[in-house]
Amino acid sequence: MGLRVLILGGTSEGRLLAEALHGDARFSALLSFAGRTESLQRPAVAHRVGGFGGAAGLAEFLRVGAYAALIDATHAFAARISRNAAEAALLTDLPVLRLVGPAWQREPGDLWLEVADMQAAAHALGPLPQRVLLTVGRLEIDAFCAAPQHDYLIRAVDDFVPPAALTQVRVLSARGPFALEEELSLLEREHIQCVVSKNAGTASTYAKLEAARLLRIPVVMVRRPETPAMPRVATRAAALSWLRQLHEASQRGE
Ligand code: NAP
Repeated sequence: MGLRVLILGGTSEGRLLAEALHGDARFSALLSFAGRTESLQRPAVAHRVGGFGGAAGLAEFLRVGAYAALIDATHAFAARISRNAAEAALLTDLPVLRLVGPAWQREPGDLWLEVADMQAAAHALGPLPQRVLLTVGRLEIDAFCAAPQHDYLIRAVDDFVPPAALTQVRVLSARGPFALEEELSLLEREHIQCVVSKNAGTASTYAKLEAARLLRIPVVMVRRPETPAMPRVATRAAALSWLRQLHEASQRGE
């Protein structure tokens, strides 16, 4: 049996990393999903769904499963599970690696207003009613109840019933990747005046920002939350190389 690796996923990078390890006899990887999306696309590799019960639960899971490494490949905004990963690695004395790409950077022509959190994003939309595209997922939509004067188009993976306080609202359920042409046509067709986005940094959802730049539409950009200090890589290739080194060390009996 290969080196046991637990990958905390919920991102395409996590999925691709698990797929890259699949069939490599040096590793035996398990990909973990929180189970937030109703329409979870199950991968063809070993996986599990559901929380662990905090850092202690995750540590116990790692111990019982005799894992040798933990990779936190969760979304840049999934701050709680990243904190749990750091703590569980300490509790179990296991090597841990954070796989997360860099944040998006403002480009010439971008009309970004950067804010610290979702409450600040709702406030930043201002008092005058606007037609707003919300691309922040469905779990933090409640923050926008403080700004019910706007007309919202919410794009989320799962369809859902928006809060009653939002009287002008429509949900568009769609899963990326999104191409520039479709983003341009969405913004124009829907007469969007402002886009709200998390700074996810993912390539698959970047086209909306290019489209907003081309159409000179402002973007309220929510900055990434603080995450714990742990070794970090930005690419799958770097994560694979870290795992290979771990494997070699284990072969040498280190
Ligand atoms: P979160 O607030 O950081 O975590 C909340 C709880 O969900 C954790 O304490 C943990 O429960 C469970 N959890 C999270 N990720 C897990 C995983 N990969 N495997 C097993 N349990 C997990 O997370 P979130 O922001 O709700 O995100 C949930 C999932 O969606 C993450 O896997 C993330 O990668 C993905 N995602 C998040 C966003 C986003 O914007 N936040 C966007 C796209 C995808 P226990 O404490 O019980 O272990």
